[in-house]
Amino acid sequence: MHSHAVVTGGAGFLGSHLCERLLARGTRVTCVDNLCTGSADNIAHLAGDPGFEFVRADVTGGLEVAGPVDLVMHLASPASPRDYERLPVETLHTGAAGTHAALDLAVAHHARFVLTSTSEVYGDPREHPQRETYWGHVNPVGPRSVYDEAKRYAEALTTAYRGARGANTGIARLFNTYGPRMRADDGRAIPTFIRQALSGEPVTVAGGGTQTRSLCYVDDTVDGLLALADAEFAGPVNLGNPHELQIRQLVEEIQRLAGTAVPVRNVPAPVDDPRRRCPDIAVAQRELGWRPRVGLHDGLRRTLEWFAAHLSPV
Ligand code: NAD
Ligand code: UDP
Repeated sequence: MHSHAVVTGGAGFLGSHLCERLLARGTRVTCVDNLCTGSADNIAHLAGDPGFEFVRADVTGGLEVAGPVDLVMHLASPASPRDYERLPVETLHTGAAGTHAALDLAVAHHARFVLTSTSEVYGDPREHPQRETYWGHVNPVGPRSVYDEAKRYAEALTTAYRGARGANTGIARLFNTYGPRMRADDGRAIPTFIRQALSGEPVTVAGGGTQTRSLCYVDDTVDGLLALADAEFAGPVNLGNPHELQIRQLVEEIQRLAGTAVPVRNVPAPVDDPRRRCPDIAVAQRELGWRPRVGLHDGLRRTLEWFAAHLSPV
């Protein structure tokens, strides 16, 4: 158990759930976020908690936090393709200078450090399902490269700090995670399809919808991140739900749950869109005793309910 955690990117989708869970375990939380893709609304309900502090700052400017810190959870980074294509230089800079700053903070305080890397380090994979030993298939100059290479650099930097500076580090490779507090306009598949199902807009299926993803509910991903925070394990470790499905099957499932049948609008596949993605989670099971527990149906239902309550009427 930790007494004081710094969560970078804590006002984002995943970060806000993580802050909540850390506070519930009795850990004091300092959330550092510049709100470039996150929102103060995500953490508004934590403002009254005496253990919670929000610092609006860009992690690339360096991080100084008073008093003892025993955990640094480094989530700051745009994460949706729409966001990182809008913020290409910022994404690379955050992965580089922001990760330096977060690691320096952890080293200065002898704190455990956890990096939220991504399945995107595998690019459009030639190995399936993806194991941590796979080196990836990434286009270094494509539109996704700003994110993929930022995270690959962040992994290399984390590994170097562990070896050369004695940092106590853990690298999590998160696969697609979904749940309440995703932005309805962030462009990612689940919030987009849910918004479209609820508002009756045509569903934008890219590239025929035969590409696959494996979707993990946010509570499961946060459980995995906490298990990695509590461990000594360096990783990298995949955290994701190995239930793989085609995007067009996802659309059908969301429409069934929403009780709607809106027309499909086929749109071109984004450049370098990975065709298949599915985690091998043997390492997470063995090293962290972790596996996801929330099935797709249940997770989508909870997410849909949240969007139905929070989407402004159109
Ligand atoms: P998000 O965009 O909701 O959250 C990211 C947060 O980081 C935002 O609040 C944003 O304002 C903040 N941020 C970005 N750059 C910053 C900077 N320079 N300084 C301070 N704050 C900054 O995205 P998310 O889905 O919650 O993702 C959180 C983390 O998990 C990211 O590192 C992402 O790469 C990783 N991840 C997420 C998924 C997923 O499916 N959600 C999958 C793989 C990896
Ligand atoms: N996608 C889609 N329609 C949309 C948004 C996304 O068909 O409106 C597809 C996208 O091309 C990709 C998959 O859904 O194949 C997952 O996209 P997302 O942006 O959620 O995540 P990522 O590509 O980063 O895994």
